[in-house]
Amino acid sequence: MENSRIIVVGGGPAGMFAALQAARGNHEVLLLDKNEMLGRKLKITGGGRCNLTNIKDKKEHQRATIHNPKFLYKSFDALNPKELMKYFEDRGCTFKLEKEGTVFPRSDDSSEIINILLEDLLEHGVKIWYNHKVEKVLIAGEQVRGVALPDGREILADKVIITTGGASYPQTGSTGDGYTMAEELGHSIEKIKPALTSFEVKENWVKSLAGISFSDTSLGILKMNKLQEWGDLLLTHYGISGPPVLKLSSYINEVDLKKTPVTVEIDFFPDKTEEELKDWFLHHSTGKKNLNNVLTEFWPRKFIEEILPFLGIPKDRKMNELKKKERNKLMDAMKGLHLTVTGLRPIKDAIVTAGGINVKEVNPSTMESKKISGLYFAGEVLDLDAITGGYNLQIAFSTGFVAGQSAGEKLNKKYE
Ligand SMILES: Cc1cc2nc3c(=O)[nH]c(=O)nc-3n(C[C@H](O)[C@H](O)[C@H](O)COP(=O)(O)OP(=O)(O)OC[C@H]3O[C@@H](n4cnc5c(N)ncnc54)[C@H](O)[C@@H]3O)c2cc1C
Repeated sequence: MENSRIIVVGGGPAGMFAALQAARGNHEVLLLDKNEMLGRKLKITGGGRCNLTNIKDKKEHQRATIHNPKFLYKSFDALNPKELMKYFEDRGCTFKLEKEGTVFPRSDDSSEIINILLEDLLEHGVKIWYNHKVEKVLIAGEQVRGVALPDGREILADKVIITTGGASYPQTGSTGDGYTMAEELGHSIEKIKPALTSFEVKENWVKSLAGISFSDTSLGILKMNKLQEWGDLLLTHYGISGPPVLKLSSYINEVDLKKTPVTVEIDFFPDKTEEELKDWFLHHSTGKKNLNNVLTEFWPRKFIEEILPFLGIPKDRKMNELKKKERNKLMDAMKGLHLTVTGLRPIKDAIVTAGGINVKEVNPSTMESKKISGLYFAGEVLDLDAITGGYNLQIAFSTGFVAGQSAGEKLNKKYE
Protein backbone atom coordinates (compact mmCIF):
# COMPACT_ATOMS: atom_id res chain seq x y z
CA MET A 1 0.00 0.00 0.00
CA GLU A 2 1.35 3.38 -1.06
CA ASN A 3 0.70 6.66 0.66
CA SER A 4 0.66 10.16 -0.78
CA ARG A 5 -0.70 13.45 0.52
CA ILE A 6 -2.28 14.64 -2.71
CA ILE A 7 -3.14 12.47 -5.71
CA VAL A 8 -3.94 13.96 -9.11
CA VAL A 9 -5.66 11.64 -11.58
CA GLY A 10 -4.98 12.63 -15.20
CA GLY A 11 -2.01 14.53 -16.60
CA GLY A 12 -3.62 16.91 -19.06
CA PRO A 13 -3.34 20.69 -18.67
CA ALA A 14 -5.77 20.74 -15.72
CA GLY A 15 -3.97 17.90 -13.93
CA MET A 16 -0.47 19.22 -14.54
CA PHE A 17 -1.38 22.65 -13.22
CA ALA A 18 -3.23 21.18 -10.25
CA ALA A 19 -0.21 19.02 -9.37
CA LEU A 20 2.13 21.99 -9.67
CA GLN A 21 0.04 24.22 -7.46
CA ALA A 22 -0.35 21.51 -4.88
CA ALA A 23 3.40 20.82 -4.90
CA ARG A 24 4.17 24.53 -4.46
CA GLY A 25 2.61 24.18 -1.00
CA ASN A 26 5.41 21.70 -0.23
CA HIS A 27 3.13 18.71 -0.34
CA GLU A 28 3.94 15.26 -1.52
CA VAL A 29 2.08 14.98 -4.82
CA LEU A 30 1.54 11.95 -7.02
CA LEU A 31 0.28 12.43 -10.58
CA LEU A 32 -1.09 9.37 -12.36
CA ASP A 33 -1.85 9.10 -16.05
CA LYS A 34 -2.91 6.08 -18.04
CA ASN A 35 -0.68 7.12 -20.96
CA GLU A 36 3.05 6.75 -21.40
CA MET A 37 3.29 10.56 -21.62
CA LEU A 38 1.59 13.62 -20.12
CA GLY A 39 -0.53 16.03 -22.15
CA ARG A 40 -1.27 13.76 -25.05
CA LYS A 41 -4.33 15.83 -26.01
CA LEU A 42 -2.49 19.07 -25.28
CA LYS A 43 0.09 17.94 -27.85
CA ILE A 44 -2.46 17.96 -30.69
CA THR A 45 -4.17 21.21 -29.72
CA GLY A 46 -4.32 23.94 -32.34
CA GLY A 47 -3.13 21.51 -35.01
CA GLY A 48 0.00 20.81 -32.93
CA ARG A 49 0.62 24.54 -32.44
CA CYS A 50 -1.40 24.88 -29.18
CA ASN A 51 -3.80 27.79 -29.02
CA LEU A 52 -2.98 28.22 -25.33
CA THR A 53 -5.46 30.94 -24.44
CA ASN A 54 -7.23 34.02 -25.69
CA ILE A 55 -6.08 37.51 -24.84
CA LYS A 56 -9.63 38.88 -24.61
CA ASP A 57 -11.03 40.02 -21.26
CA LYS A 58 -13.07 38.15 -18.68
CA LYS A 59 -16.36 39.23 -20.25
CA GLU A 60 -15.39 37.69 -23.58
CA HIS A 61 -14.23 34.47 -21.93
CA GLN A 62 -17.62 34.31 -20.21
CA ARG A 63 -19.36 34.92 -23.53
CA ALA A 64 -17.30 32.21 -25.22
CA THR A 65 -18.22 29.66 -22.55
CA ILE A 66 -21.34 27.77 -23.56
CA HIS A 67 -22.23 25.96 -20.34
CA ASN A 68 -21.90 27.42 -16.84
CA PRO A 69 -19.79 30.52 -17.50
CA LYS A 70 -20.62 31.90 -14.06
CA PHE A 71 -19.01 28.91 -12.38
CA LEU A 72 -15.70 30.12 -13.82
CA TYR A 73 -15.79 33.63 -12.34
CA LYS A 74 -13.48 32.89 -9.44
CA SER A 75 -11.07 30.56 -11.18
CA PHE A 76 -10.59 33.10 -13.96
CA ASP A 77 -9.71 35.70 -11.33
CA ALA A 78 -7.27 33.26 -9.75
CA LEU A 79 -5.47 32.67 -13.06
CA ASN A 80 -6.32 34.87 -16.04
CA PRO A 81 -4.85 34.62 -19.58
CA LYS A 82 -2.06 37.12 -18.90
CA GLU A 83 -0.99 35.26 -15.76
CA LEU A 84 -1.08 31.97 -17.63
CA MET A 85 1.12 33.42 -20.38
CA LYS A 86 3.46 34.93 -17.79
CA TYR A 87 3.95 31.51 -16.21
CA PHE A 88 5.29 30.19 -19.53
CA GLU A 89 7.14 33.43 -20.42
CA ASP A 90 9.03 33.24 -17.12
CA ARG A 91 10.27 29.85 -18.29
CA GLY A 92 11.48 31.06 -21.68
CA CYS A 93 8.43 30.71 -23.93
CA THR A 94 7.42 33.63 -26.14
CA PHE A 95 3.97 34.05 -27.61
CA LYS A 96 2.37 35.56 -30.67
CA LEU A 97 -1.14 36.86 -31.13
CA GLU A 98 -3.20 35.62 -34.04
CA LYS A 99 -6.70 36.43 -35.25
CA GLU A 100 -9.53 37.02 -32.81
CA GLY A 101 -7.21 37.27 -29.82
CA THR A 102 -5.83 33.73 -30.07
CA VAL A 103 -2.45 33.11 -28.42
CA PHE A 104 0.14 30.60 -29.71
CA PRO A 105 3.74 29.89 -28.70
CA ARG A 106 6.04 31.57 -31.22
CA SER A 107 7.63 28.18 -31.88
CA ASP A 108 4.27 26.90 -33.23
CA ASP A 109 4.99 23.79 -31.20
CA SER A 110 2.80 22.44 -28.41
CA SER A 111 5.77 20.35 -27.16
CA GLU A 112 7.34 23.55 -25.84
CA ILE A 113 4.35 24.01 -23.51
CA ILE A 114 4.38 20.37 -22.41
CA ASN A 115 8.15 20.37 -21.79
CA ILE A 116 7.94 23.46 -19.58
CA LEU A 117 5.19 21.86 -17.51
CA LEU A 118 7.03 18.57 -17.23
CA GLU A 119 10.28 20.20 -16.17
CA ASP A 120 8.48 22.26 -13.54
CA LEU A 121 6.65 19.20 -12.21
CA LEU A 122 9.94 17.36 -11.77
CA GLU A 123 11.60 20.41 -10.23
CA HIS A 124 8.82 20.56 -7.65
CA GLY A 125 9.29 16.90 -6.83
CA VAL A 126 5.94 15.72 -8.20
CA LYS A 127 6.03 11.95 -8.57
CA ILE A 128 4.68 10.90 -11.98
CA TRP A 129 3.38 7.43 -12.62
CA TYR A 130 2.89 6.81 -16.32
CA ASN A 131 0.79 3.95 -17.66
CA HIS A 132 -1.27 3.95 -14.48
CA LYS A 133 -5.00 3.98 -14.93
CA VAL A 134 -7.05 4.84 -11.85
CA GLU A 135 -10.14 2.70 -11.51
CA LYS A 136 -11.99 4.31 -8.61
CA VAL A 137 -11.80 6.82 -5.80
CA LEU A 138 -11.76 5.39 -2.28
CA ILE A 139 -13.79 7.04 0.43
CA ALA A 140 -14.53 6.54 4.11
CA GLY A 141 -17.95 7.96 4.84
CA GLU A 142 -17.96 11.33 3.13
CA GLN A 143 -14.19 11.74 3.23
CA VAL A 144 -11.79 10.84 0.43
CA ARG A 145 -9.26 8.14 1.29
CA GLY A 146 -7.29 7.55 -1.90
CA VAL A 147 -7.60 5.76 -5.21
CA ALA A 148 -7.68 2.17 -6.44
CA LEU A 149 -5.96 0.78 -9.54
CA PRO A 150 -7.42 -1.94 -11.79
CA ASP A 151 -5.14 -4.59 -10.22
CA GLY A 152 -6.71 -3.85 -6.83
CA ARG A 153 -3.78 -1.87 -5.46
CA GLU A 154 -4.83 1.01 -3.22
CA ILE A 155 -2.97 4.30 -2.90
CA LEU A 156 -3.98 6.31 0.11
CA ALA A 157 -4.09 10.11 0.12
CA ASP A 158 -5.56 13.06 2.01
CA LYS A 159 -6.78 14.76 -1.15
CA VAL A 160 -7.68 13.48 -4.60
CA ILE A 161 -8.02 15.74 -7.65
CA ILE A 162 -9.82 14.29 -10.66
CA THR A 163 -8.69 15.79 -13.97
CA THR A 164 -9.48 12.99 -16.39
CA GLY A 165 -10.87 15.24 -19.16
CA GLY A 166 -13.93 14.58 -21.32
CA ALA A 167 -14.90 11.73 -23.62
CA SER A 168 -13.83 13.07 -26.99
CA TYR A 169 -10.70 11.96 -28.87
CA PRO A 170 -10.53 8.82 -26.68
CA GLN A 171 -7.25 7.81 -28.34
CA THR A 172 -5.63 10.58 -26.26
CA GLY A 173 -6.65 8.88 -23.02
CA SER A 174 -9.76 10.95 -22.30
CA THR A 175 -12.34 8.19 -22.22
CA GLY A 176 -14.79 9.63 -19.72
CA ASP A 177 -13.45 7.65 -16.71
CA GLY A 178 -13.96 10.62 -14.40
CA TYR A 179 -17.70 10.58 -15.02
CA THR A 180 -17.97 6.96 -13.85
CA MET A 181 -15.79 7.59 -10.78
CA ALA A 182 -17.79 10.69 -9.81
CA GLU A 183 -21.13 8.99 -10.40
CA GLU A 184 -20.13 6.12 -8.11
CA LEU A 185 -19.58 8.71 -5.38
CA GLY A 186 -23.05 10.20 -5.80
CA HIS A 187 -22.27 13.03 -8.21
CA SER A 188 -24.72 13.70 -11.02
CA ILE A 189 -23.51 13.88 -14.60
CA GLU A 190 -25.02 16.27 -17.11
CA LYS A 191 -25.64 14.42 -20.39
CA ILE A 192 -22.49 14.07 -22.49
CA LYS A 193 -22.73 15.64 -25.96
CA PRO A 194 -20.26 16.37 -28.74
CA ALA A 195 -19.19 20.02 -28.92
CA LEU A 196 -16.98 21.76 -31.47
CA THR A 197 -17.77 19.14 -34.06
CA SER A 198 -18.77 18.97 -37.72
CA PHE A 199 -22.22 18.81 -39.32
CA GLU A 200 -23.72 15.86 -41.18
CA VAL A 201 -26.00 17.16 -43.96
CA LYS A 202 -28.82 15.64 -45.98
CA GLU A 203 -27.70 16.93 -49.40
CA ASN A 204 -25.69 14.11 -51.01
CA TRP A 205 -24.20 16.26 -53.77
CA VAL A 206 -22.22 18.15 -51.10
CA LYS A 207 -20.73 14.91 -49.79
CA SER A 208 -19.45 14.01 -53.25
CA LEU A 209 -17.30 17.15 -53.13
CA ALA A 210 -15.26 16.22 -50.05
CA GLY A 211 -12.02 18.19 -49.82
CA ILE A 212 -13.25 21.40 -51.45
CA SER A 213 -12.86 24.45 -49.23
CA PHE A 214 -14.04 28.06 -49.30
CA SER A 215 -12.30 30.88 -47.47
CA ASP A 216 -13.95 33.62 -45.42
CA THR A 217 -17.55 32.45 -45.55
CA SER A 218 -20.33 33.37 -43.19
CA LEU A 219 -22.50 30.65 -41.71
CA GLY A 220 -25.81 31.17 -39.97
CA ILE A 221 -28.47 28.91 -38.54
CA LEU A 222 -31.96 29.76 -39.72
CA LYS A 223 -34.54 30.52 -37.05
CA MET A 224 -31.71 31.13 -34.58
CA ASN A 225 -31.12 34.77 -35.38
CA LYS A 226 -28.06 35.57 -33.40
CA LEU A 227 -26.21 32.44 -34.43
CA GLN A 228 -23.74 33.38 -37.11
CA GLU A 229 -20.03 32.64 -37.45
CA TRP A 230 -17.36 33.48 -39.98
CA GLY A 231 -14.40 31.59 -41.41
CA ASP A 232 -13.23 28.91 -43.80
CA LEU A 233 -15.63 26.14 -44.74
CA LEU A 234 -14.70 22.62 -45.77
CA LEU A 235 -16.90 20.07 -47.57
CA THR A 236 -16.51 16.52 -46.27
CA HIS A 237 -17.79 13.05 -47.08
CA TYR A 238 -20.53 13.51 -44.45
CA GLY A 239 -21.29 17.24 -44.75
CA ILE A 240 -19.47 20.39 -43.71
CA SER A 241 -16.66 21.31 -41.35
CA GLY A 242 -14.36 24.23 -40.55
CA PRO A 243 -14.08 26.82 -37.77
CA PRO A 244 -17.57 28.40 -38.17
CA VAL A 245 -19.19 24.94 -38.19
CA LEU A 246 -17.35 23.88 -35.03
CA LYS A 247 -18.38 27.03 -33.23
CA LEU A 248 -22.05 26.72 -34.20
CA SER A 249 -22.16 23.04 -33.24
CA SER A 250 -21.86 23.95 -29.57
CA TYR A 251 -25.16 25.83 -29.78
CA ILE A 252 -27.19 23.12 -31.47
CA ASN A 253 -26.03 20.01 -29.62
CA GLU A 254 -29.14 20.22 -27.46
CA VAL A 255 -31.37 19.73 -30.53
CA ASP A 256 -32.42 16.22 -31.61
CA LEU A 257 -31.31 16.78 -35.19
CA LYS A 258 -32.58 13.41 -36.42
CA LYS A 259 -36.11 14.45 -35.46
CA THR A 260 -35.80 18.19 -36.02
CA PRO A 261 -33.10 18.99 -38.57
CA VAL A 262 -31.91 22.59 -38.66
CA THR A 263 -31.13 24.60 -41.76
CA VAL A 264 -27.81 26.40 -42.15
CA GLU A 265 -27.33 29.25 -44.55
CA ILE A 266 -23.95 29.74 -46.19
CA ASP A 267 -22.97 33.14 -47.49
CA PHE A 268 -19.95 32.38 -49.69
CA PHE A 269 -19.24 36.08 -50.25
CA PRO A 270 -20.08 38.04 -47.11
CA ASP A 271 -17.92 40.96 -48.27
CA LYS A 272 -19.99 41.39 -51.46
CA THR A 273 -23.49 42.87 -51.50
CA GLU A 274 -26.29 41.40 -53.60
CA GLU A 275 -26.19 44.58 -55.70
CA GLU A 276 -22.50 44.04 -56.45
CA LEU A 277 -23.14 40.45 -57.53
CA LYS A 278 -26.08 41.52 -59.69
CA ASP A 279 -23.89 44.17 -61.36
CA TRP A 280 -21.28 41.50 -62.03
CA PHE A 281 -23.85 39.23 -63.72
CA LEU A 282 -25.27 42.10 -65.79
CA HIS A 283 -21.78 43.13 -66.82
CA HIS A 284 -21.11 39.59 -68.12
CA SER A 285 -24.60 38.98 -69.52
CA THR A 286 -23.86 39.83 -73.16
CA GLY A 287 -20.96 37.42 -73.61
CA LYS A 288 -21.26 34.01 -75.25
CA LYS A 289 -19.01 32.35 -72.69
CA ASN A 290 -20.28 29.34 -70.79
CA LEU A 291 -21.68 30.13 -67.36
CA ASN A 292 -19.63 27.32 -65.76
CA ASN A 293 -16.39 28.84 -67.05
CA VAL A 294 -17.25 32.36 -65.97
CA LEU A 295 -18.28 31.23 -62.49
CA THR A 296 -14.76 29.92 -61.79
CA GLU A 297 -14.00 33.50 -60.77
CA PHE A 298 -16.05 32.67 -57.66
CA TRP A 299 -16.13 28.94 -57.06
CA PRO A 300 -13.96 25.85 -57.75
CA ARG A 301 -14.92 24.13 -61.01
CA LYS A 302 -15.91 20.83 -59.36
CA PHE A 303 -18.32 22.67 -57.11
CA ILE A 304 -19.87 24.52 -60.07
CA GLU A 305 -20.37 21.22 -61.90
CA GLU A 306 -22.49 19.96 -58.98
CA ILE A 307 -24.32 23.07 -57.87
CA LEU A 308 -25.66 24.02 -61.31
CA PRO A 309 -27.71 20.81 -61.69
CA PHE A 310 -28.76 21.13 -58.03
CA LEU A 311 -30.17 24.56 -58.87
CA GLY A 312 -31.75 23.25 -62.07
CA ILE A 313 -29.50 25.28 -64.36
CA PRO A 314 -28.01 23.53 -67.45
CA LYS A 315 -24.23 23.22 -67.17
CA ASP A 316 -23.71 24.48 -70.73
CA ARG A 317 -25.80 27.63 -70.28
CA LYS A 318 -24.24 30.58 -72.15
CA MET A 319 -24.03 33.86 -70.28
CA ASN A 320 -26.17 35.66 -72.83
CA GLU A 321 -28.86 32.98 -72.42
CA LEU A 322 -28.98 33.07 -68.62
CA LYS A 323 -32.55 33.71 -67.53
CA LYS A 324 -33.37 36.21 -64.79
CA LYS A 325 -34.86 33.40 -62.69
CA GLU A 326 -31.66 31.38 -63.04
CA ARG A 327 -29.48 34.36 -62.19
CA ASN A 328 -31.54 34.98 -59.06
CA LYS A 329 -31.25 31.34 -58.03
CA LEU A 330 -27.48 31.51 -58.45
CA MET A 331 -27.23 34.71 -56.47
CA ASP A 332 -29.36 33.20 -53.71
CA ALA A 333 -26.97 30.25 -53.56
CA MET A 334 -23.94 32.52 -53.51
CA LYS A 335 -25.28 34.66 -50.69
CA GLY A 336 -27.38 32.07 -48.87
CA LEU A 337 -27.09 28.40 -49.83
CA HIS A 338 -29.30 26.31 -47.56
CA LEU A 339 -28.18 22.92 -46.26
CA THR A 340 -30.07 20.62 -43.92
CA VAL A 341 -28.14 19.51 -40.82
CA THR A 342 -29.29 16.04 -39.82
CA GLY A 343 -26.67 15.29 -37.18
CA LEU A 344 -23.39 16.12 -35.51
CA ARG A 345 -20.30 13.97 -35.81
CA PRO A 346 -19.96 11.50 -32.91
CA ILE A 347 -18.32 12.44 -29.64
CA LYS A 348 -15.11 10.59 -30.49
CA ASP A 349 -14.51 13.15 -33.27
CA ALA A 350 -15.57 16.20 -31.27
CA ILE A 351 -12.95 18.69 -30.10
CA VAL A 352 -14.55 18.97 -26.68
CA THR A 353 -17.21 17.27 -24.59
CA ALA A 354 -20.24 19.21 -23.47
CA GLY A 355 -21.86 17.94 -20.28
CA GLY A 356 -20.03 16.29 -17.40
CA ILE A 357 -19.96 16.58 -13.64
CA ASN A 358 -22.74 18.88 -12.48
CA VAL A 359 -21.04 22.09 -11.33
CA LYS A 360 -23.74 22.75 -8.77
CA GLU A 361 -22.14 19.98 -6.74
CA VAL A 362 -18.69 21.59 -6.84
CA ASN A 363 -17.50 24.69 -4.98
CA PRO A 364 -16.42 27.26 -7.62
CA SER A 365 -13.94 28.94 -5.24
CA THR A 366 -12.03 25.73 -4.47
CA MET A 367 -13.20 23.09 -7.00
CA GLU A 368 -13.89 20.80 -4.04
CA SER A 369 -16.80 18.40 -4.22
CA LYS A 370 -19.76 19.42 -2.08
CA LYS A 371 -20.48 15.73 -1.52
CA ILE A 372 -17.10 14.22 -0.64
CA SER A 373 -14.62 16.16 1.47
CA GLY A 374 -11.09 16.21 0.06
CA LEU A 375 -12.21 15.37 -3.48
CA TYR A 376 -11.62 17.96 -6.22
CA PHE A 377 -12.45 18.23 -9.92
CA ALA A 378 -10.95 20.42 -12.63
CA GLY A 379 -10.93 20.78 -16.41
CA GLU A 380 -13.14 19.22 -19.04
CA VAL A 381 -14.48 16.51 -16.72
CA LEU A 382 -16.72 19.27 -15.34
CA ASP A 383 -19.80 20.46 -17.24
CA LEU A 384 -17.85 23.31 -18.86
CA ASP A 385 -17.17 23.94 -22.54
CA ALA A 386 -16.38 26.91 -24.71
CA ILE A 387 -16.11 27.76 -28.39
CA THR A 388 -12.76 27.53 -30.21
CA GLY A 389 -10.16 30.24 -29.62
CA GLY A 390 -8.05 29.04 -26.67
CA TYR A 391 -10.92 29.30 -24.20
CA ASN A 392 -11.05 25.60 -23.36
CA LEU A 393 -7.40 25.37 -22.38
CA GLN A 394 -7.77 28.49 -20.23
CA ILE A 395 -10.65 26.73 -18.44
CA ALA A 396 -8.47 23.66 -17.85
CA PHE A 397 -5.49 25.66 -16.54
CA SER A 398 -7.56 28.03 -14.38
CA THR A 399 -9.67 25.34 -12.74
CA GLY A 400 -6.62 23.07 -12.31
CA PHE A 401 -4.73 25.92 -10.68
CA VAL A 402 -7.55 26.53 -8.19
CA ALA A 403 -8.03 22.84 -7.39
CA GLY A 404 -4.31 22.31 -6.69
CA GLN A 405 -3.99 25.44 -4.64
CA SER A 406 -7.11 24.77 -2.55
CA ALA A 407 -6.20 21.15 -1.91
CA GLY A 408 -2.75 22.24 -0.70
CA GLU A 409 -4.05 25.08 1.44
CA LYS A 410 -6.66 22.91 3.10
CA LEU A 411 -4.03 20.33 3.91
CA ASN A 412 -1.84 23.02 5.51
CA LYS A 413 -4.71 24.19 7.68
CA LYS A 414 -5.32 20.68 8.93
CA TYR A 415 -1.76 20.43 10.22
CA GLU A 416 -1.34 23.98 11.56
C1 LIG B 1 -7.85 18.04 -31.76
C2 LIG B 1 -8.05 18.97 -30.60
C3 LIG B 1 -7.56 20.26 -30.69
C4 LIG B 1 -7.77 21.15 -29.63
N1 LIG B 1 -7.23 22.40 -29.72
C5 LIG B 1 -7.43 23.27 -28.71
C6 LIG B 1 -6.81 24.56 -28.73
O1 LIG B 1 -5.98 24.87 -29.62
N2 LIG B 1 -7.09 25.43 -27.72
C7 LIG B 1 -7.95 25.09 -26.69
O2 LIG B 1 -8.20 25.93 -25.83
N3 LIG B 1 -8.48 23.84 -26.60
C8 LIG B 1 -8.23 22.94 -27.57
N4 LIG B 1 -8.75 21.66 -27.47
C9 LIG B 1 -9.50 21.30 -26.23
C10 LIG B 1 -8.51 21.01 -25.09
O3 LIG B 1 -7.48 20.17 -25.56
C11 LIG B 1 -9.19 20.36 -23.89
O4 LIG B 1 -10.29 21.12 -23.51
C12 LIG B 1 -8.21 20.19 -22.73
O5 LIG B 1 -7.13 19.35 -23.10
C13 LIG B 1 -8.89 19.63 -21.48
O6 LIG B 1 -7.90 19.48 -20.50
P1 LIG B 1 -8.06 18.45 -19.27
O7 LIG B 1 -6.78 18.52 -18.54
O8 LIG B 1 -9.31 18.73 -18.57
O9 LIG B 1 -8.23 17.03 -19.94
P2 LIG B 1 -7.31 16.19 -21.00
O10 LIG B 1 -6.38 17.10 -21.73
O11 LIG B 1 -8.28 15.40 -21.78
O12 LIG B 1 -6.45 15.28 -20.07
C14 LIG B 1 -7.01 14.22 -19.34
C15 LIG B 1 -5.90 13.26 -18.96
O13 LIG B 1 -6.40 12.30 -18.02
C16 LIG B 1 -5.89 11.02 -18.34
N5 LIG B 1 -6.83 10.00 -17.82
C17 LIG B 1 -8.11 9.81 -18.19
N6 LIG B 1 -8.67 8.83 -17.47
C18 LIG B 1 -7.72 8.39 -16.62
C19 LIG B 1 -7.67 7.38 -15.61
N7 LIG B 1 -8.74 6.61 -15.34
N8 LIG B 1 -6.53 7.18 -14.94
C20 LIG B 1 -5.41 7.93 -15.21
N9 LIG B 1 -5.40 8.89 -16.14
C21 LIG B 1 -6.53 9.13 -16.84
C22 LIG B 1 -5.77 11.01 -19.85
O14 LIG B 1 -4.82 10.06 -20.28
C23 LIG B 1 -5.36 12.46 -20.14
O15 LIG B 1 -3.95 12.59 -20.18
C24 LIG B 1 -8.52 20.75 -28.49
C25 LIG B 1 -9.00 19.43 -28.42
C26 LIG B 1 -8.76 18.55 -29.46
C27 LIG B 1 -9.27 17.14 -29.34
